[in-house]
Amino acid sequence: MGDSIFTKIIQGDIPADILYEDDHCICIKDIHPQAPTHLLIIPRKPIPRLADATEEDRALLGHLMLKVADIARSVGVDEAFRVCINNGEAAGQTVFHLHIHLLAGKTFKENSLSMQ
Ligand code: AMP
Repeated sequence: MGDSIFTKIIQGDIPADILYEDDHCICIKDIHPQAPTHLLIIPRKPIPRLADATEEDRALLGHLMLKVADIARSVGVDEAFRVCINNGEAAGQTVFHLHIHLLAGKTFKENSLSMQ
């Protein structure tokens, strides 16, 4: 399989609005935002799905979650935000390079995690 769009962004082959980056991850604005704030936190390591992460990725996954909270603070939405990871096509995953959605700035229906 070729590089995902996120790998191409990480490699600088495709432009993106990068809000944050470090040795382990980048944070970009989602190109089709589903909320006033819709960011993607993406590990540099191209793990296709959360289900493909292994024990070796324990520290990386912890780092990503802490960065989500740091980034939420830095953009001023830390009082109310939602985090989502789609795993697999049937769950809505379209880019097979692990990423965490950070959504904020709208009222989320309490039941909006339901699946059909
Ligand atoms: P998912 O459906 O969970 O795999 O999420 C993929 C997300 O990546 C979607 O919300 C897309 O809008 C977003 N996306 C796809 N291509 C780009 C891009 N070039 N720059 C920023 N976000 C993108």
